[in-house]
Amino acid sequence: MYNRRVMSGAPRIQVLPDTVSSAIAAGEVIERPASVIKELVENALDAGATRIEIEVEDAGIARMQVRDNGLGILSEDVFLAVQRYATSKLRSPEDLFNIRTLGFRGEALSSIAAVARMELSTRSAAEATGTKIVVEGGEILEQKTIGAPPGTTINIRDLFYNVPARRKFVKSPTTERRKINQIVQRFALAHPWVAFHLAHDGRVVFEASGSGDAREVLARVYNPELAREMIQLSPAADAPIKIHGFVSPPHLNRSNRQGIIFFVNGRWIQDASLNAAVIQAYHTLLMVGRYPHSVIHIELTPENVDVNVHPAKSEIRFREPRPVFNLVQRAVRAALLGQAVPPSVSLHNQGDTIPGALSADWQLAGDVELAQDLLPLQSDWGSSEGQVPLLRPVGQVSRAYLVAEGPDGIYLIDQHAAHERILFEQYMHEVESDQLESQALLDSITIEFSADEISLLEENAQQIQALGFELEAFGGLSFRLRRIPSIFTGRDPEQAIRAVVEDFEEDESPLAAKREARLAARICKRLAIKSGQLLSLEEQRALILSLERCASPRTCPHGRPTMIHLPVASLARQFGRT
Ligand code: ADP
Ligand code: MG
Repeated sequence: MYNRRVMSGAPRIQVLPDTVSSAIAAGEVIERPASVIKELVENALDAGATRIEIEVEDAGIARMQVRDNGLGILSEDVFLAVQRYATSKLRSPEDLFNIRTLGFRGEALSSIAAVARMELSTRSAAEATGTKIVVEGGEILEQKTIGAPPGTTINIRDLFYNVPARRKFVKSPTTERRKINQIVQRFALAHPWVAFHLAHDGRVVFEASGSGDAREVLARVYNPELAREMIQLSPAADAPIKIHGFVSPPHLNRSNRQGIIFFVNGRWIQDASLNAAVIQAYHTLLMVGRYPHSVIHIELTPENVDVNVHPAKSEIRFREPRPVFNLVQRAVRAALLGQAVPPSVSLHNQGDTIPGALSADWQLAGDVELAQDLLPLQSDWGSSEGQVPLLRPVGQVSRAYLVAEGPDGIYLIDQHAAHERILFEQYMHEVESDQLESQALLDSITIEFSADEISLLEENAQQIQALGFELEAFGGLSFRLRRIPSIFTGRDPEQAIRAVVEDFEEDESPLAAKREARLAARICKRLAIKSGQLLSLEEQRALILSLERCASPRTCPHGRPTMIHLPVASLARQFGRT
């Protein structure tokens, strides 16, 4: 974050010359109580505050107060603060290309003052006394000298009292409170060094201590478990674009994209292509329709980003979006691959028998140090062989799990999940490199579908063909399966086609590009070796060998682990040898 404390005393406020104000993406920024909170907290942060206290009554309609310990405003400038296009943050049109503050339009206070009753009390540390002004409907009714600690307190009452039309757009108190909480929590995530305190109707709903510990803020905003398990991105040293923050391990996920949060130079922003970069980084690690949590900070020189795109300042434009997108995707993927070690079983406090320990919940996070030993962070997942050490098959348990020995302990492999991964990578490789081999079925199989299913099959005929299947209408509701991809020889092809039809029925993903991989994952799940199937030692060996060759051997394409690792060290500990 840019340190705003470098300014000494309060910066002077000026009315922007027309050349600047006309270049600003103007617009009405105050549409609901949360917009007021957002603007006031931005101002407090711009003033270098280290503590920001927010009080809200009646979801913000009755009263909102934001108190900060920032630089304050000089007494002779106070009247300017509530004037339109008066700001201490911009001087010339060129400054618009070098914005280091959250605000710059000089619009917020005047817009708020126009639609509410405002009291502003402030004192600059450079002055002995403070100033208080009372503004109503945009007019300063009163100005007086007061005693006050350095900082600024702004009190807003009766929002939209003079613009009843605007009130109609305010949603239920619950919704408005939620919006306010969301905004304050985002600020806290972006500024872990600033203490935040938020109360609704006298009840504290959110606090962050300002200790600088990002995980503490994550725990406050989400929950301690997620905070503990979030994986920290490791920023590349002295790169011109810095990416840092946290992403959730694949098993902690949610059903929509709302958990993907970005800050650019400390400003919360929304950007669909950055969301896509994160989602792509989780490719095949997350189940279909599930999305990660992520809090990602991007820092780059202000010249390379245009924040003057939208009045709410939550949309921005990168001068060169592609490198930013790539960096984000790589940083997330690298962190995930570094993390996707086999979950280590925690044998402590789990009773003393290994079977008991195995059924106990394992930690995907595993032992971080061990993870780093096994698997150095990858900068690119194109080349990520060697993620599983060479393994020696020992046997099969419950007709479901393979036991194998590695240089560093015992590996338990889920035969179904492992085979899913193997089939998926082979299949995708063939599909993507246009080398899909398909094979004619000697005894063609007849499959019956419902009328609805048939129309889906017809609509998606091309996709089905691209995946190496050939179907032929056979009268009525019957179809004949003529060809299947060679890698599925010996498996039940009807299952594959049914999996494809089910996928067409659900069709939850709007991204056509992802569909192929999703279909492939689904087919492979159906056709993979099931649990319950007895495997010879030879078959076990072949399965393990193929798994070792996979690019992402540690999870199935839907994100579940394929293996659990029992490190020698933890066995030794359990047996009291160390
Ligand atoms: P902007 O933030 O775009 O400059 P605002 O209308 O939000 O415009 O604020 C106008 C000016 O008032 C700011 O430039 C700043 O100088 C001053 N100001 C507003 N809030 C504070 C605050 N909490 N602490 C110190 N100065 C403030
Ligand atoms: Mg502002």
